[in-house]
Amino acid sequence: MIPFNKPFITGKELTYIAEAIAEGHLSGDGHFTKQCSEAFKARYGFGDCFLTTSGTDALEMAAILANIGPGDEVIMPSYTFVSTANAFILRGAKVVFVDSRADHPNMDVDRVEAAITPRTKVIVPMHYGGVACAMDELIALASRHGSIVVEDAAHCLDATYKGRPLGGIGQLASFSFHVTKNIAAGEGGLLTVNDPAFVKRAEVIREKGTDRSAFFRGEVDKYGWVDIGSSFLASELTAAFLAAQIEAIDLIQERRLRVWHTYSEGLQELTAKGFILPQIPAFASNNAHLFHILCPSLDVRTRLIAFLLKNGIKAVFHYQPLHASAYHKAHGGHEEPMPHATRYGDTLLRLPLYAGLTASEQDHVIGKILEFVRNER
Ligand SMILES: *Cc1c(COP(=O)(O)O)cnc(C)c1O
Repeated sequence: MIPFNKPFITGKELTYIAEAIAEGHLSGDGHFTKQCSEAFKARYGFGDCFLTTSGTDALEMAAILANIGPGDEVIMPSYTFVSTANAFILRGAKVVFVDSRADHPNMDVDRVEAAITPRTKVIVPMHYGGVACAMDELIALASRHGSIVVEDAAHCLDATYKGRPLGGIGQLASFSFHVTKNIAAGEGGLLTVNDPAFVKRAEVIREKGTDRSAFFRGEVDKYGWVDIGSSFLASELTAAFLAAQIEAIDLIQERRLRVWHTYSEGLQELTAKGFILPQIPAFASNNAHLFHILCPSLDVRTRLIAFLLKNGIKAVFHYQPLHASAYHKAHGGHEEPMPHATRYGDTLLRLPLYAGLTASEQDHVIGKILEFVRNER
């Protein structure tokens, strides 16, 4: 069976975890946490970096930092993961969904302005597959209306917009190190704070609403409850695992990109059969987070998934648009048609892509897809 995803283990993970154990500091903010934060800052030029237990937690921290309260509106794509919305819903926000672009699952930035109201506090671009949204336009729009930009950069490790690393452009951004992401820690996440105005409070919110971090730096002589917060801090075991992964970013990316380009070249003939292969706009880089094809219809996708499964290949669809979700409908969200998000929900298929996928496994995947497509009328 060729799975959809397989964790890539660098070989250093256990060594670093053993070091963390030997050091006896297993809770958060030990030397591996600092090493990871510094590595992200050095490599990508991010502002302050806060490791969290998940990407979802990083988004929840962002929602608290943006001071979201009941009635505030948050604009985001319908075609995204539930956590993008939940993080703000938990603070009482009203989420306002925007349709995807016709040529890419990303939020159509040209439609954002029409969704802005005086209550719009945050705009959340989610860069699908690590492909950047049109950030210059979005940042200009947000600053004109006084909104904060929180990048959902869960897919974005090592990806850029006009040469600038994604996750370093909005005031705040969240990354995920869930096992399905380019580098992984099982579960894990990162909040980047690119606007220094948020740094002090981020530190407190991550430490259960206490000034414990300042206490350990000797800045206050006792620590106490100073704000709301939660337990968002990743443990040193997570950070130790992640430290090994960070060291292997170049190797992982080289392998993922090779797989991506092999699919892209090997599947060209699909375009003559009504399938669409991924397109990367000139302003974005490709970080090979995922490789997706768009099928001509839901029916074709369903049959292709079954055909591949029968041949030992696990290919999977992705998001079901949030604007049409049971939760949104049950909570007063009225469903305006979002034809593009709906189309991606119905026709997008992701192929197995991971650093350990061998050339012969990938040949098998490509061969079976071509076999299926050639047998379509
Ligand atoms: C993976 C993901 C998240 C959440 O990350 P977790 O680490 O699983 O909590 C959020 N948004 C998007 C777009 C994701 O793909």
